[in-house]
Amino acid sequence: MPESHRQDLERLTDLQAMLAAFGEIGRTPKGGVTRLAASAEDGQARDAFCAWLRRQGFEVAVDRVGNLFGYLDFGEAAGSGAVYCGSHLDSQPDGGRFDGTYGVLAGACAALAVRERVRAGRLRPRHRYLVVVSWTNEEGARYQPSLLGSSVFSGALDASEALEARDGQGVSLAEALRAIDYLGDGAPPAEPDWYVELHVEQGAVLEREGRPLGIVSHCWGARKFRLRFSGQADHTGPTPMADRRDALRAASLLIAGVSERALASDGCLHGSVGRILVEPNSPNVVPRSATLFVELRAGEESLLDAAEAWLTSAIDRISEETGCRSEIEMATRRTVETFDPDGVAIAKQVVESLGLEAMTMATIAGHDALALQRRFPAMLLFVPSAGGVSHSPAEFTAEQDLERGLEALVAVLCRLLAGRPEDRDSRGRGGEA
Ligand SMILES: [Zn+2]
Repeated sequence: MPESHRQDLERLTDLQAMLAAFGEIGRTPKGGVTRLAASAEDGQARDAFCAWLRRQGFEVAVDRVGNLFGYLDFGEAAGSGAVYCGSHLDSQPDGGRFDGTYGVLAGACAALAVRERVRAGRLRPRHRYLVVVSWTNEEGARYQPSLLGSSVFSGALDASEALEARDGQGVSLAEALRAIDYLGDGAPPAEPDWYVELHVEQGAVLEREGRPLGIVSHCWGARKFRLRFSGQADHTGPTPMADRRDALRAASLLIAGVSERALASDGCLHGSVGRILVEPNSPNVVPRSATLFVELRAGEESLLDAAEAWLTSAIDRISEETGCRSEIEMATRRTVETFDPDGVAIAKQVVESLGLEAMTMATIAGHDALALQRRFPAMLLFVPSAGGVSHSPAEFTAEQDLERGLEALVAVLCRLLAGRPEDRDSRGRGGEA
């Protein structure tokens, strides 16, 4: 980004203008963004965000997996503890410009609005810090698992394991973060008493129901697998059909099987193979190896168990049928999660006091708030996505919906900051694992 643009960006305090400016970083021809985690584009977005934070008077800290924290200190009189908000700045390849970025930038704008109220004497914070965070590698596009930075922060994932994750080119996360200068050694000033995330819905429920805001009460679980079929490379011409051990044929049988299984579940199970790597990937060589990235998602653990058992047996059956060996190289299991019920109740009350008709709902997509919720009370708020489209340059949320989300976020943060940190412990939720 040219220096003049960068200086302009630092001065912006309007959410729409900030979204437009960040939408230019890694912009794709169709108006989406490609900002894979720890890529040069992600580095540019991080640099721009850090410059903005410093310019606006935030302290900045970067931790050992590149999670980026900007915080305001309300002073000792406010007591101790912190309220967090945020999301992620990384994206899918040619992904949407609101996914994640909206939560980070709305969090930043909300923090400014909260500080105004504190300065004007209209809010007396009882938590010392307000932290805006951008988590590393939420998307899981370049590095697996997804929700990587937030999972390290909440203790569910070991930092050294996360840093050793490798992308398709064999570049480790540690190397990639070092290259963009975000392999930090800092830490935020206090752990979260609350974490609040604002996100575009990535589904069409709010739009269908005509509601401006969703309060997420629970999340579907997910099982994600990287598996490989290994056959034998051979000439696609003379090799007799019966002698071929075609790894891509094995993969194709499984791909079709996953979809058929999910389609037959009446909406209870979602499943896809989103990525495939074929070797040697030549038009006239019987494929030697096919690596597949399989995802299964459902709202109940029993359905996930059944789906995983089906997957395992399908892999065996296909191996038998095609003469290919199979190996599950990586498995990630994200359990069905329920958000803190007090948080849901607080969010509902606050949002309704603004005259906004919110709905309590589930999320099928994973979010950093889920990783946080395992250890800290977290809230997840949704604004509508036009047509429910996401992970696509066609992703869109209307300006009015974005602004209403911001208004709700400001009100929720004010409410949480005004409450005492120890209120949480007295209700027996402190330190829950
Ligand atoms: Zn996201």
